[in-house]
Amino acid sequence: MRMENQVALITGAGRGIGRAIAQGYAEEGACVAVADLSTETAQEASQAILAAGGEAMAVTMDVTDEHAVNAGVASVYERWGRLDVLVANAGIQHIDPIDKLDFADWRKVVSVHLDGAFLTTRAALKYMYASDRGGTVIYMGSVHSKEASPLKAPYVAAKHALAGLCRSVAKEGAAHGVRSNLICPGFVRTPLVEKQIPEQARELGISEDEVIRNVMLKQTVDQTFTTLEDVTELAIHLAAFPSNALTGQSVVVSHGWHMQ
Ligand code: NAD
Repeated sequence: MRMENQVALITGAGRGIGRAIAQGYAEEGACVAVADLSTETAQEASQAILAAGGEAMAVTMDVTDEHAVNAGVASVYERWGRLDVLVANAGIQHIDPIDKLDFADWRKVVSVHLDGAFLTTRAALKYMYASDRGGTVIYMGSVHSKEASPLKAPYVAAKHALAGLCRSVAKEGAAHGVRSNLICPGFVRTPLVEKQIPEQARELGISEDEVIRNVMLKQTVDQTFTTLEDVTELAIHLAAFPSNALTGQSVVVSHGWHMQ
């Protein structure tokens, strides 16, 4: 049990990577707030944790809505009286070349990743700073926090920017015992990725198989997708790390797609 007595809030945890981290944290003994835009999936994920004997609550939260974020984070504190870990994970993708990209689509992607990370961080720090235990903030970056791919400009720009926010939180948070790190996964087969396989095939004029082999996995060392378990294990490790030695870092988990 690496997270006993910890309270963790994970955004975008109704499905995909966030849901896997929520389950992993609960298995390690944490009380887990499963936050998502979708009430239905947040409740489903929370109930699955409860059914497995864990401790969880569902929080409906659009991370781009300042009021919803403040109220959602406050409800977690009211329930368990503390907040130790924030995983700012909610994210979306949009596939388009830059010259055809609508401003509204640019803004939406940047807002979910960046405004969402800022708003949830600010709300969580309020409680972490007020306690004498500090806390840890984990951002869900991507290999696209390190390098670009075509057709994903707002995503790539926002994921790079998260590294800057992470380092800023590490600098300011240290005095309050708050650490901050960025997880940078390669491709994981979640609904977010399943959706973009046909979209990329269409835009690039190649088959879906070629998108997988020649775009998504080409630069990995073993032509393998990163798994939910890979990312969850890293998220547990970062949350449970015992000191401020590991802060302001980006950790890439991508089967060697990106080496730093
Ligand atoms: P997903 O689409 O499976 O799940 C994303 C979740 O975020 C959904 O439950 C959705 O409802 C929620 N969400 C979307 N907008 C939201 C908002 N405004 N407020 C609150 N919740 C919102 O995606 P995923 O693949 O699990 O991605 C999770 C994170 O991991 C994202 O930040 C993504 O960029 C990142 N990531 C994914 C991959 C991958 O290959 N899947 C790789 C690197 C990084």
